[in-house]
Amino acid sequence: MKRKLGLIYGGKSAEHEVSLSTARAVSHAVDFDKYEVIPVYITYSGEWRKGDALLAPVESIEQLRLQRDEEKPDSIHDFLNGNGTPDIILPLLHGTNGEDGTVQGLFEVMNIPYAGNGVLASSAGMDKVVMKQLFAHVGLKQVPYVHFIRNQWKKDRQYWIDKMEHELNFPMFVKPANLGSSVGISKAVDHESLMKAVDFALKFDRKIIVEQGITAREVEVSVLGNDDPVCSVLGEIKPVATFYDYEAKYQDGSTELLIPAPVTDEVETTLKDMAIRAFKVLDCAGLVRADFFVTANDEVLINEVNTMPGFTPTSMFPLLWQNTGKSYPELINDLIELALERYEEKK
Ligand code: ADP
Ligand code: MG
Ligand code: MG
Repeated sequence: MKRKLGLIYGGKSAEHEVSLSTARAVSHAVDFDKYEVIPVYITYSGEWRKGDALLAPVESIEQLRLQRDEEKPDSIHDFLNGNGTPDIILPLLHGTNGEDGTVQGLFEVMNIPYAGNGVLASSAGMDKVVMKQLFAHVGLKQVPYVHFIRNQWKKDRQYWIDKMEHELNFPMFVKPANLGSSVGISKAVDHESLMKAVDFALKFDRKIIVEQGITAREVEVSVLGNDDPVCSVLGEIKPVATFYDYEAKYQDGSTELLIPAPVTDEVETTLKDMAIRAFKVLDCAGLVRADFFVTANDEVLINEVNTMPGFTPTSMFPLLWQNTGKSYPELINDLIELALERYEEKK
């Protein structure tokens, strides 16, 4: 009998659109002899709907987006209790309410195996401040940073300005703590742009992280596994924009990917070791893409991990595996197997 595979996509997140691309690609690569696909779409406002449009022969994401208005709303309760309850779920969601442990918690409560990271790793990996604190705990090198919440900023703005300008040098990177895809991030080059950047980031999150800007290459590695994770070859991203912003990531195709990344054996060994330590300290499962800065004198600093990295066939995570000898459909199959393994392991 075919297993019912729930593909959950969309999501109440600034990274909704990215999820649509991922879901499109994954739905085409699933082994339909083995799985019956149950697509579930979460709208921008967080409503759960039958996501059948995903499987319809539409040509573009644009069409997928147009179709979804016609879909009849379906209550989450029907989904949870109805005949359609999946045997296993692929949560293809990025950012808040998807990559951050919330939806993973729902699947835990429902007792359904799901691919990728669990509640703890997802939520710790989503919050850049918590993530960095855990990295520091196992001695992973990273850029200096300052963090605060909206109310601290409102009450004592001057204290935080002094702290940032004292502890960090320009340029600085101002980021909402709980997002991805570069949404809400700006590079501040002076006092004035720093003020603007903080106000902008505060529109997206109540928690802000301001990092020391670094001039370095950006090198990434894909990690796959549960208790004994393994690394792919390394990839370097060469953004043409001032930094790897949202447009560069998804829209303008201006970013060059170098796979394998041209780094020394020493850098490669250090970076992979750091990736595995990052994976373990967050207690990750399934997959992670770990992103690093490599300086001109080959110092390796960890930037972040992404617990549900971009997953279209042209995204870094699958491309790195392809260059390591694992195809896109094989990768999806591995993630499903790892999900089942983890589910059994936890019992
Ligand atoms: P996201 O989770 O949104 O991808 P990142 O922390 O990876 O956020 O930042 C997005 C991009 O901004 C990075 O890929 C890099 O190009 C640039 N960037 C972020 N932080 C720094 C920094 N401290 N120094 C230099 N560039 C940075
Ligand atoms: Mg990220
Ligand atoms: Mg990033």
